[in-house]
Amino acid sequence: MSYQEAADLIVRAKNMYALTGAGMSTESGIPDFRSDTGYYKDMNSAEALSREVLLNDPDRFYHEGFRILTDLFNKEPNKGHKALAKLEEMGYLKGIVTQNIDNLHTLAGSKNVFEVHGHTRTAHCLSCGKSISFQEYVDRVVKEGEIPPRCSHCQGVLRPDVVMFGDMMPQAFQDAYTCMTSCDLLLVAGSSLQVAPVSYLPSMAKHLIIINKEPTPYDRQADVVLHEPIGKALTEIVALIEGEKK
Ligand code: NAD
Repeated sequence: MSYQEAADLIVRAKNMYALTGAGMSTESGIPDFRSDTGYYKDMNSAEALSREVLLNDPDRFYHEGFRILTDLFNKEPNKGHKALAKLEEMGYLKGIVTQNIDNLHTLAGSKNVFEVHGHTRTAHCLSCGKSISFQEYVDRVVKEGEIPPRCSHCQGVLRPDVVMFGDMMPQAFQDAYTCMTSCDLLLVAGSSLQVAPVSYLPSMAKHLIIINKEPTPYDRQADVVLHEPIGKALTEIVALIEGEKK
């Protein structure tokens, strides 16, 4: 399977979306969960980054899972993020459904981004709902040593606006689901496709391109599968499309 086949599918599609996961950002220096160098090597993030642990064992939450959130600071979009932003700018890509919470698609210039696992721009109080910046939330833990950090207004417990294991899915997921009902091409990049309910979305698309270093459960259904680094593959595919337009 080739870059040219992927480029042809993209040019022909009328309603193309991308679905991205943690592998999208490893080239920006952020570990994923499940590859050899991922967080699962020394942590069960399904437990450490869960609503239950946040509420019942805050010491564990802030000494284990919290590291995944602070690792996201000061990271830059990579070639893969920029290639997807370019595809949207060229009119081929309608939007990105991302499981990532690192804000890197938006920083790369992508406009229509569905953050189905939340984001790390804000945190809020579980009692009164007051919202504060993510930086302030992190500072309260890291600089002030507050575990758990509490609301300055009502002393309720603060939590990040990311979707953790045990949380409900946000409106962004419903919006992404609606888009999938008319999606004729889904480009999956950097996801093991093992985290539900996002893992069901590829079954809704008419055509599928998968770019992932390791095999996924959808490889046999996909039109094009590239077991390659995302930055290289997407840059080459976009270059082919740009070349054809000239
Ligand atoms: P995952 O860790 O289960 O799978 C990542 C996949 O990406 C792996 O199969 C790996 O082989 C592949 N990969 C890694 N680097 C790659 C590269 N450069 N090129 C091609 N493929 C590459 O991740 P997931 O499916 O997104 O699910 C895990 C959950 O982890 C998600 O809910 C996500 O929110 C969360 N998470 C997010 C971040 C982030 O925001 N950057 C980081 C870690 C975890």
